Amino acid sequence: MKILKIQTLRGPNYWSIRRNQLVVMRLDLEELADKPSNQIPKFYEGLVQVLPSLEEHYCSPGCRGGFLSRVKEGTMMGHIIEHIALELQTLAGMSVGFGRTRETATPGVYQVVIEYLDEQAGRYAARAAVRLCQSLVNTGNYSPEELEQDLKDLRELRADAALGPSTETIVKEAEARGIPWMPLNARAMIQLGYGVYHKRLQATLSDLSGILAVELACDKEGTKQILRDAGVPVPKGTVIHYLDELEEAIGDVGGYPIVIKPLDGNHGRGITININTWQEAEEAYDAASVASKTRSVIVERYYTGRDHRVLVINGKLVAVAERVPAHVVGDGKSTIAELIEKTNSDPNRGEGHDNVLTNIQLDRTSWQLLEKLGYNLETILPPGEICYLRATANLSTGGIAVDRTDEVHPENIWLFSRVAKIIGLDIAGIDVVTSDISQPLHQTGGVIVEVNAAPGFRMHVSPSQGLPRNVAAPVLDMLFPPGTPTRIPIIAITGTNGKTTTTRLISHIYRQTGKTVGYTTTDGIYINEFLVEKGDTTGPQSAQVILRDPTVEVAVLETARGGLLRSGQAFAQSDVGVVLNVAADHLGIGDIDTTEQLAHLKSVVAETVMPSGYAILNADDPLVSAMAKRVKANIAYFSMNPENELLKKHIRSGGLAAVYENGYLSIMKGDWTFRIEQAVNIPLTMGGKAAFMIANALAASLAAYAQGVSIDDVRKALATFQASVNQTPGRMNLFNLGSYHALIDYAHNPHSYQALGGFVRNWNSGMRIGVVGGPGDRRDEDFVMLGKLAAEIFDRIIIKEDNDTRGRSPGEAAGLITQGIKLEQRNCRYESILDETTAISTALDEAPEGSLVVVLPESISLAISLIEARRQQSSNGYSP
Ligand code: ATP
Ligand code: ATP
Ligand code: MG
Ligand code: MG
Repeated sequence: MKILKIQTLRGPNYWSIRRNQLVVMRLDLEELADKPSNQIPKFYEGLVQVLPSLEEHYCSPGCRGGFLSRVKEGTMMGHIIEHIALELQTLAGMSVGFGRTRETATPGVYQVVIEYLDEQAGRYAARAAVRLCQSLVNTGNYSPEELEQDLKDLRELRADAALGPSTETIVKEAEARGIPWMPLNARAMIQLGYGVYHKRLQATLSDLSGILAVELACDKEGTKQILRDAGVPVPKGTVIHYLDELEEAIGDVGGYPIVIKPLDGNHGRGITININTWQEAEEAYDAASVASKTRSVIVERYYTGRDHRVLVINGKLVAVAERVPAHVVGDGKSTIAELIEKTNSDPNRGEGHDNVLTNIQLDRTSWQLLEKLGYNLETILPPGEICYLRATANLSTGGIAVDRTDEVHPENIWLFSRVAKIIGLDIAGIDVVTSDISQPLHQTGGVIVEVNAAPGFRMHVSPSQGLPRNVAAPVLDMLFPPGTPTRIPIIAITGTNGKTTTTRLISHIYRQTGKTVGYTTTDGIYINEFLVEKGDTTGPQSAQVILRDPTVEVAVLETARGGLLRSGQAFAQSDVGVVLNVAADHLGIGDIDTTEQLAHLKSVVAETVMPSGYAILNADDPLVSAMAKRVKANIAYFSMNPENELLKKHIRSGGLAAVYENGYLSIMKGDWTFRIEQAVNIPLTMGGKAAFMIANALAASLAAYAQGVSIDDVRKALATFQASVNQTPGRMNLFNLGSYHALIDYAHNPHSYQALGGFVRNWNSGMRIGVVGGPGDRRDEDFVMLGKLAAEIFDRIIIKEDNDTRGRSPGEAAGLITQGIKLEQRNCRYESILDETTAISTALDEAPEGSLVVVLPESISLAISLIEARRQQSSNGYSP
């Protein structure tokens, strides 16, 4: 077996609208191509032994053991690999269940599709599944050590890539509210919402966390000062920089017991509490000084009591957790070392902040605590005795959390929210030491030890004891108060031909409303009239540039086949999805071999429109109108034919449509017809001669109208949009060259040739000259077809080739086109001039009076410059 390619999908895709995270592996079964599992000795037995849990896979029989019974009866290796890749991930703690396996047009080559939670892990699982199967085929076995290593690697990949626990809770809540989110590539930030409405978070720092407040919170002494000045109880203390000052400082705070900590520390690093002797104090000073960036050390009175973390969001107390320092509980049999090991074996514990709890690790304070009790690691602890291993209760040093949210005294609630406001933090973690949180601090003598910016959420979301609290909800309520939008309208456009033109036209219509429009096309990414980035930008990454942009109010996204196939759609839902047409193009690429498969792919754009939105479908194209049955949104049809049955039925039942009727482009809804404009007055339609441009204009008008743009604005836009070099470079650019005309167009498949042919035939009666060619990666039959169509349209044909022949030898494509021309048996003159510049120049030089030279260039800019050079009188758009 050989893996030919692994692709990672991250959005709605060909395989599933709902399952966005899929790995697609193209697999050549090679020697196993005609060997189902039952013909491989010991395969079934080996598989059951290595992965007995496959028993749980139902597969097509729909019952426990279903999949294994198919292996026993005989199924293809691709299918087995799919199930194994899913099971490996599940065993590594990433429960996934969606998979598909399909044979491609190439015999023995399969597409194996598997779901993932973490994409690296997904790709790893796909490769590991192939390895495992190959080993079973070769030896009937896969060693337990190897399987264990696979699972370990998978777990590590998951741990490395996962969002932090706080971010994860916020993301989950956002998803539950239907707020879109995406990771940003820098500083572990995430974005919630789209375009002009988006907000950013980095862990629990938000767009609203002020820099002054965050800096103040990071300065423990400054924080205490501000709080003390406001009458809030804080520990009595002082800051020193030299050991010489320590003795006096201890006197100042009223003598032992004291606490020594770094001025700018966190996570309990460098802190010693409950210090009672000079020797301890000296040691503690050194530890704190080393842990401080500025060698500044706080000497504080030690306050006895329990340690609480109070979470205040947007001025409201939302959760309180008591933090209990790392400890073990004796059972009368085990040594302290054994008890620690047992505690750490809890699957909830792990390294760092990524698990619910952190492992207990011993440090200087642990030894001191044990020593005070006269214990060591070999001591057997009496049953029920609690032995603390840390003095401070930070979760990151192995502590646990107990929820106390419902026990807080009302006066404390008032005090804590006031403290957050005094510091100025939108999300504040307040550390409170008091013997009893249900009594006012001033009665218990409790103090506020510090205030944290970016407090962790995990102790509130998954406390070791007590109720978990949804602390993400108030964060989202704050960032997006009820009624505030989170999304900008997304209009996605797909189809075989006309996407770029329609995308530009919709953007132009939206510009009439004064909104800032971000759009992506085959030519580049734009915001209003400004080019953000040049290139073929019709994939998900380009769409994200627009969705991330803080200035964009409307996104109009050309959504092409390539990007959809490569990594899925960039967004889970749109407001409007336009499908213009589906015709043969790019067939044979990416395992899309038929127009039906192509339609299935493009249908993603229609199927992902949100229920309140509109799918705009071409009623004249059966492959497009058939998408209606899978669409969850409203449907609006456009048609060139008022007599179209589907359209008539749709309108009769109150549906929305756009139709070309009696020379007008009109919107229809129920009994009403709203005429937008006559085609002859719409420059894009070339005086009504370019039928396909009328269709594009109908689709664009309908998309905008469905989103609430007024017919007046649509009309204004149609009147000012031209198929010119500026607005649609390379799409129906007509040049008046005095005695003849030249037209540059980008038609590059049979469907667009036919569309163009319709226009050329509508042109005047002069001679029609075509300079034709096509991209080399199309199939042989496509070139032949192209020749045949060219012969139908033109009186004279000059065949040229692209500079980039995409793997074909020079002259090959031209030869195929010539074959096609001959097939048509029409009396037209033809010749091959492979070089594009020479071909175009020849056509222009020899154009007789009254003729039309149609150039279908590889390089639009080259063709434009050649023609511009000869232009005596510009027409800039349509002028007959
Ligand atoms: P974190 O980042 O986890 O909040 P930190 O390194 O910022 O910790 P502090 O919050 O200042 O350190 O102290 C850690 C813990 O030590 C406190 O939560 C509290 O339990 C204890 N502590 C600190 N100062 C005192 C004090 N003056 N009296 C009693 N206990 C204290
Ligand atoms: P690409 O796949 O290259 O991005 P596209 O779908 O974006 O193409 P456009 O760039 O708008 O399409 O148009 C390319 C060519 O397709 C035009 O120059 C024209 O010849 C033809 N075309 C445009 N609209 C249609 C249509 N609705 N039906 C058929 N052909 C069309
Ligand atoms: Mg703290
Ligand atoms: Mg395009």
